[in-house]
Amino acid sequence: MTDILKHCTLCPRECGVNRYETRGFCGEGAAVRIARAELHMWEEPCISGSRGAGTVFFSGCDLRCCFCQNYEISHLGKGFEVSTGELCDAFLRLRDMGAHNIDLVNPTHFLPQITEALDRLDGSLGIPVVYNSGGYDKPESLELTRGRISIFLPDLKYLDSGMAARYSGAKDYPERAFAAIHKMFELVGRPVIGGDGLMKSGVIVRHLILPNHRQDSIALIKRLREEFDPGDILVSLMSQYTPIYRAGEFHEIDRRLSTFEYRTVAEVLEQSGFDGYVQQKTSASEEFIPKFYGEKY
Ligand code: SF4
Repeated sequence: MTDILKHCTLCPRECGVNRYETRGFCGEGAAVRIARAELHMWEEPCISGSRGAGTVFFSGCDLRCCFCQNYEISHLGKGFEVSTGELCDAFLRLRDMGAHNIDLVNPTHFLPQITEALDRLDGSLGIPVVYNSGGYDKPESLELTRGRISIFLPDLKYLDSGMAARYSGAKDYPERAFAAIHKMFELVGRPVIGGDGLMKSGVIVRHLILPNHRQDSIALIKRLREEFDPGDILVSLMSQYTPIYRAGEFHEIDRRLSTFEYRTVAEVLEQSGFDGYVQQKTSASEEFIPKFYGEKY
């Protein structure tokens, strides 16, 4: 499966490079690099539960979001190499610490290697695996997750391609992300929440409202509603935008969200009929950004 990396077209960038010899747009070669593997309480309640999600943060990224909270690892290369065996050990350690699931954060560009690790564990994990991506995924690559991943947690960042180009360097993001979400839905179906309140399978689409762009958020929710029935997916509306990293270069997004912006988008989501989560604006803070590691710890 890792043969794909010899001419990498895993994500929509389709660099075509040999990742055993060099790195593509994502900044990563064939070796898996991670920057943190710990319990995490800040995902949606049905993912974090009472004990936490077992998050593994992968280094590199196929997007270049100027407001990325995890820019140290996604853009600046922080992280350390792990072998397939070490990745398996990290999953098992998190499971043994009580994690409700294994939460793969930004796994897109390491999908073949992650697949290999999951296959080595051969179902012995006993907890769901969550694919927590930026939404810039290819349906063909997502096919690799069939039978291995049961929960998808993709971002859906923009509907407007101009915004996608300006803030993430990916003009085709909107169409790519919608296609990816359709594939994710085809793979795992409607949400299943257990009696314990934890998600067992399904798709949660996350949308972060950006300042001065509430109209795009509203249009995005409406398009999502045109393409999915309310029971098909959950929607998680996030209002914790913090102008971080390079966001200051774009004056229109160089501030927090206003209560008016947040409320108007939340109302549209409520009217859409989608179930899900609306994060309170009060949780907007850099304190929620976890500590990342540049070497094994
Ligand atoms: S995963 Fe990385 S190397 Fe492969 S196509 Fe995407 S950006 Fe390029």
